[in-house]
Amino acid sequence: MKRFALAGNPNCGKTTLFNNLTGSTAHVGNWPGVTVEKKDGVYKKLSEPIKIIDLPGIYSLSPYTSEEVISRNYILDEKPDCVINIVDATNLERNLYLTTQLLEIDVPVVVAVNMMDVLEKNGDSLDEKVLEKKLGVPVVKISALEEANLKELMERAFEASEKKREGVTVLESKDLKHLVGDVKIAFKGKKVENPLFHAIKLVENDEIEAKMHEELLPMVEEFKQTLHDETFGNDIEAIIADERYNYISKNFSKVIVHSELAENEKKEVKETKSDRIDKVLTHKVWGLLIFAVILFFVFHLTFSENLFFLGGLFKDAAPSFEGSIYEGLFWTDGGINSPGVILFNFFDMSFSAIIDAVSGAMASGLGEGHWLTGFLCDGVLSGLFAILGFLPQILVLFLFFSTMEDTGYMARVAFILDRIFRKFGLSGRAFIPMIMGFGCSVPAMINTRTLADEHEKVATIRVIPFFSCGAKLPILVAIAGGVCEVFGFSSVDVITYSMYVVGVITAIIAVLIMRHSTQRGEAAPFIMELPQYHWPQFRALMIHLWDKAKHFVKKAFTIILASTIIIWFLSNFGWDWQMCEMEDSILASIGKFIQPLFTPLGFGSQLSAFGWVFAVAAITGLIAKENVIATFSVLAAAIVAGFEGTEEGVAEAVVMITNTGITWPGAIAFIAFNMLTIPCFAACATAKGELQKGTFKWTLLFWIVASFIGASFVYCFLSMFSTDTLAWAIPCTAVFIALGVLTVFYLRHYERKQDSKLA
Ligand code: GDP
Repeated sequence: MKRFALAGNPNCGKTTLFNNLTGSTAHVGNWPGVTVEKKDGVYKKLSEPIKIIDLPGIYSLSPYTSEEVISRNYILDEKPDCVINIVDATNLERNLYLTTQLLEIDVPVVVAVNMMDVLEKNGDSLDEKVLEKKLGVPVVKISALEEANLKELMERAFEASEKKREGVTVLESKDLKHLVGDVKIAFKGKKVENPLFHAIKLVENDEIEAKMHEELLPMVEEFKQTLHDETFGNDIEAIIADERYNYISKNFSKVIVHSELAENEKKEVKETKSDRIDKVLTHKVWGLLIFAVILFFVFHLTFSENLFFLGGLFKDAAPSFEGSIYEGLFWTDGGINSPGVILFNFFDMSFSAIIDAVSGAMASGLGEGHWLTGFLCDGVLSGLFAILGFLPQILVLFLFFSTMEDTGYMARVAFILDRIFRKFGLSGRAFIPMIMGFGCSVPAMINTRTLADEHEKVATIRVIPFFSCGAKLPILVAIAGGVCEVFGFSSVDVITYSMYVVGVITAIIAVLIMRHSTQRGEAAPFIMELPQYHWPQFRALMIHLWDKAKHFVKKAFTIILASTIIIWFLSNFGWDWQMCEMEDSILASIGKFIQPLFTPLGFGSQLSAFGWVFAVAAITGLIAKENVIATFSVLAAAIVAGFEGTEEGVAEAVVMITNTGITWPGAIAFIAFNMLTIPCFAACATAKGELQKGTFKWTLLFWIVASFIGASFVYCFLSMFSTDTLAWAIPCTAVFIALGVLTVFYLRHYERKQDSKLA
């Protein structure tokens, strides 16, 4: 099968084109650096199927970032049949910089000028014939978004792939041409493929090239002495870059023809509009404040049971809804439910109706209290539904996040936060994986490959789990809901929001400590263009949500289903493999064994009967975070006869709180513990793969220490406002902190030893 590779600058529309060509649903992000791994798919609309490879977005083929190395190696080593170079028409000259380098490789190239819809909307036009003539390769105007001209693009690429193409360069100055020519001959003599490309890179002092062809370096050095540029002295890389830009502006500054309507004026007005928005949104103070407010409303609309705090207004009207289906869906104690909660209630009601129907049917068939009914309804179905019930809220939350990303707002957030994070020793680049962590740690950790500095990468991977992912949402919502119900607090959304804040603060503190101890280093400069604002695309939003939903449902039916079944067995059978009361079950004995560990965090030995369930849930959460609530659900069914997991989905948490005697600070510390501790299996495996050998075990230790310190801190702090006795917690927190400090010192020492060994 023929292979066409897509190459282009970040944010030029590569992923959009890839998705439309292959019908796949890769994540399209309106910020640079979202695609790090290469992806492939198949285009089927030509006479033969074509494999399409989406390479990571890059500005050049130099070896400064891993994206650049991935793309360069792919084109050089895997030799695709054609490279489709996507350039952004609204940013033509800068995009052509990469083109000038691609043309140097002996591979068929087709240039796809994307975003033509934007250009045409502005009334501008582009003369592709001029481009074609000068570049010497086919040029096709497309709009990836509107799927315009894609067939033609593929046909031209197919034609091009049938012929061989030899690399050409735009470097024209005599000395340089001469130098490159001589090195090229040397490469040819050595039978190296792509001699022109390698020659130019060697002349540029390219790191990879210099390592591969050390023997040619003296010759290049000798030539270089003869070359001296007034502006750049002997910095040959800068001389070459300058020449490329000169070539581009000389030849292509006029390819875009602006419409007669005082185009410049129009543009100015437009720019100031977007600039004006940015002035506010990226303002030092307002920008942050606005971001915090927006985040609060996102959470409010997803979780609140008192929408816009209007509850008081409707107090009198509320009784007329009492007991009706409206109350269950739209009202909670007289407050209006947010859209997220309404959807949640709807799912919840449907699921409990299903469980009722199944258990009713089984009871009449098998007789009351049959173990099979217990297994199916209390074990399998209630565990499964407890998790699936959260799907709507997760989707609502991600709808907001995706919208923020797609409009270009998230890129501004990364920009604002870059200013702050720089102070903590991280670059803004590290922020993209961190924000991705709110979705799922796995792709977020993979995205850290864009970080050039290994220490920065380690620090980032370690704190990614603190950016609470979608799977931790059920823990937050259920327990916060349970706490509110049992202890009479009013705002679930305030608790969930503050827990996200706790995660972020812990991340900041942890980074700060690491960057000044075990993971020292300077933050690399962060250059990111702010993408244009645009209205979110319905299709792109739906792709995001579909992705999330698919992943979540698949997980519910595989790993979580299996876990609930195992938990049911362990909680219903004793070591003698006979069915027994839960107190005597295998699970109970395991739970009781590890329970004391959590005493300083408020959910250990101080709890009464069943107190061990928190210890068990924390452990099952290591398999998948959804398991925490699924475990509660299975156990709640075993504790309370005829238990029904309804009522805003927090009934499970309510059973746990009332039956274990946990205090509210303890319950909230339990949330904090789960947010900060070792992430799920999948995330651990990814971290292990991404980290250098030997670092993973320290990372595990880091998560354990961080969660114990963080959660005991939360417990101690909140206990000041309650009646909990802190006889245990305070000294333990102190010990944890001391342990943390010791670990840091030890690691610092260890790392020094490693470094000196390397040196
Ligand atoms: P990548 O970083 O190169 O993969 O770029 P993406 O495919 O993620 O696209 C970046 C942004 O540009 C997204 O918001 C897309 O919706 C938008 N985009 C992509 N192609 C077009 C196009 O042809 N026209 C317009 N107007 N927007 C586009």
